[in-house]
Amino acid sequence: MSTRLIPPMTPLTQPYWDGAQRGELMLQRCASCGHQPFPPGANCGACGSSDLRWHRASGKGTVYTYTVANRPPHPVFSAQCPMVIAVVELEEGPRMMTNITSCDPGAVTVGMAVEVDFEPIDDSNVVLPVFKPA
Ligand code: ZN
Repeated sequence: MSTRLIPPMTPLTQPYWDGAQRGELMLQRCASCGHQPFPPGANCGACGSSDLRWHRASGKGTVYTYTVANRPPHPVFSAQCPMVIAVVELEEGPRMMTNITSCDPGAVTVGMAVEVDFEPIDDSNVVLPVFKPA
C-alpha cells in the first residue's frame, strides 16, 4: 500500500480502473481500424471512430524511457523517492507513463522487459498499474 494522489475517475476511464482492481490492464481497441489509443478516449485518434472496445492487455512491455526522481515532485511522494518515472511501451503498442517498482532504480535500463503489477493506494478503492522487471 502506498499514499498517492488519486487520479480522476470518469465514466470514460472507469473500465480501466475496474480492470486494475481485478489485476487486469485494460486497453481500448478501435473496432474500425484496430488502433489502440492510450490514455483512454471517446474517439479513436487514428480514424475518429467512437466504436472503441475494451480488452485485456498482456501486461508485458519494455521501458521506452525513464528518469529517477530523487526529490519528490510532490510532498505525497516523499516516502517513495527515489522513484522511477517511466514510459513503458506495451506489447500491444501504446506507451504509458507509469512507475517501475520492485527493483533498484539504478538497475532500470531503456529496453528492459517489464510486466504490469498492481499497487493499491491507501484509503481508497484505487489500484494503480505500475511495472516491475519481467
Ligand atoms: Zn480507428
